[in-house]
Amino acid sequence: MNIILLGPPGAGKGTQAARLVEARGMVQLSTGDMLREAQASGTEMGKIVAEVMAKGQLVTDEIVIGLIREKLAQGGSGFIFDGFPRTLAQADALAALMDETGQSIHAAIELQVNDEILVDRIVGRAEQARAAGQPVRADDNAESLKTRLMAYYKQTSPLIGYYHAKGLLRGVDGLADIHTVEAQIAAILD
Ligand code: ADP
Repeated sequence: MNIILLGPPGAGKGTQAARLVEARGMVQLSTGDMLREAQASGTEMGKIVAEVMAKGQLVTDEIVIGLIREKLAQGGSGFIFDGFPRTLAQADALAALMDETGQSIHAAIELQVNDEILVDRIVGRAEQARAAGQPVRADDNAESLKTRLMAYYKQTSPLIGYYHAKGLLRGVDGLADIHTVEAQIAAILD
């Protein structure tokens, strides 16, 4: 099975993806993580994306589709797409890539939350990292968060309709506690 996790920043996509990896041996493909790795590697591409990410804007479709294409070319299945697709162009590219490899998307799971909780969660995540002496994400601040939320509503939220039209959309209550969300997702997958 291949699934997409949809939802705004802070909705819990990364947390749930990690649980699915552990519980079911699925493979998490997080474009956010890939881009942070590119940034850390100090390559030319890394430098370009670092600036865009810090502001909270979306990196170009070309770059992220390229990253996903590379991963899919390595083969395998049981993918959890986390943070990808984020635009309609990315969604179309993913459909084409899946076709090429003879695979398909089985569900797009939307983690439904509200804005107030997102701000609390992201500010909380930054505070926890700071308290633990860990690096704080450059985009986990109030200013970038505003841009990230706007990018979500303008560019990513149309995907809800897109996957609904494809008959793949499944909603879960992202405000519930981690275990309840996990159980809701498990029920969809089973
Ligand atoms: P979050 O979901 O908390 O916003 P991510 O780690 O998924 O965090 O993404 C962090 C940043 O990486 C985004 O704000 C954006 O700049 C960039 N990014 C990640 N995935 C994509 C994507 N599919 N398309 C464009 N930009 C992306």
